[in-house]
Amino acid sequence: MIILVVNAGSSSLKYQLIEMKNESVIAKGVCERIGLKGSFLTHKKPGADDVTLNVEMKNHTEAVKLVLEALLNKDYGVIKSMEEISAVGHRVVHSAEDFKETVKINDKVLKVCEINADLAPLHVPANIMGIKACKEVMKNTPMAAVFDTAFHSRMPDYAFLYAIPYEAYSELKIRKYGFHGTSHKFVSDEAAKYLKKDIKNLKIITCHLGNGSSIAAVDGGVSVDTSMGFTPLEGVPMGTRSGDIDPAVIEYLMQKTGINIKDAINYLNKKSGVLGVSGLSSDFRDLHEAKDKGDKRAALAVEIFCYRVKKYIGAYMAAMNGADCIVFTAGIGENTARIRTQIAGNLSFLGIEIDQDLNKKAASGISEISKASSKVKVLVVPTNEELVIARETLSVCK
Ligand code: ADP
Repeated sequence: MIILVVNAGSSSLKYQLIEMKNESVIAKGVCERIGLKGSFLTHKKPGADDVTLNVEMKNHTEAVKLVLEALLNKDYGVIKSMEEISAVGHRVVHSAEDFKETVKINDKVLKVCEINADLAPLHVPANIMGIKACKEVMKNTPMAAVFDTAFHSRMPDYAFLYAIPYEAYSELKIRKYGFHGTSHKFVSDEAAKYLKKDIKNLKIITCHLGNGSSIAAVDGGVSVDTSMGFTPLEGVPMGTRSGDIDPAVIEYLMQKTGINIKDAINYLNKKSGVLGVSGLSSDFRDLHEAKDKGDKRAALAVEIFCYRVKKYIGAYMAAMNGADCIVFTAGIGENTARIRTQIAGNLSFLGIEIDQDLNKKAASGISEISKASSKVKVLVVPTNEELVIARETLSVCK
């Protein structure tokens, strides 16, 4: 059974074709600059050279058509007929409170997604464009919507409610939703498998540290709290996002600089985080290079990031009355030993002891980086959001 996973952005469309028998990726790629000048598709087939197709894609429907042409191409394609694709799984960023799990897409589901688009205007409209494009090109193929927020949908009310008038929640749906759900679910499941324990008996803190970063407290397989909020802006500082901030800063900033509210939110989303503090880059590789050459602001940006992640770990250990395991994942979490040390290297009072040798050696696959004496296991677990989307799609489209 083959599943096509689609992650549509406003001007891009990423895809993976996954053979579910052995959960292997048989092709993947990305369409970029959709609707803009110079659009192109990069198609990758394991063991073969990448193919770049410089073809104009005016919209997402043209992008999906091009993806299928690439998948069916007799030289670099991987399937002979579109019918080989059993189902399509779409990443949808926001489900509001309407969907607590993956759903098979029909007109009603699409309508609800359209109503909820206001909650994530940068993402959901693009996700819907991807769904509509696939429906147009692959009329008879079943499709599923897999939501970033779904894994967090069982958080208790005292964790997801903001302490503002209750009507903000009951009338306007303002609450913490959380994101990166597919990743937090995948790595917590993988950690339980690695530890050979039933996830129902584990308390896990998952640190998804990438361009966007979020932390989740996973108790018994349920996300009971997470750092991102109503939007992905809340929580730890990120590449370009501020993370938690006193909201009164916004009014002061607007008054002093004359910017409007849209610009102020853009400032917090796009110009802040480690980029804003360092004045240099949102990429931790650049920051480390600069730090090693003595750049103080790069060092400060990294330190603020690590300090704030550490505080969330402490908070979530308090929230769950302890933790059995801490998981690091995503670009930074999987690849940067020194960040893992800076975050969790000095938490022995919580029973967290990192083995520096194991930490430095952590390579591909799951690595245990805590000392044998550490009460809390610390793992590096590579995330695989596409595989979760494919598995979930298979489960509702069988
Ligand atoms: P996204 O949220 O866009 O998926 P990633 O999970 O790829 O982002 O994370 C991007 C961050 O991870 C960057 O700050 C980058 O420095 C870091 N990163 C990614 N790959 C590596 C690597 N191989 N070595 C060191 N750092 C990496």
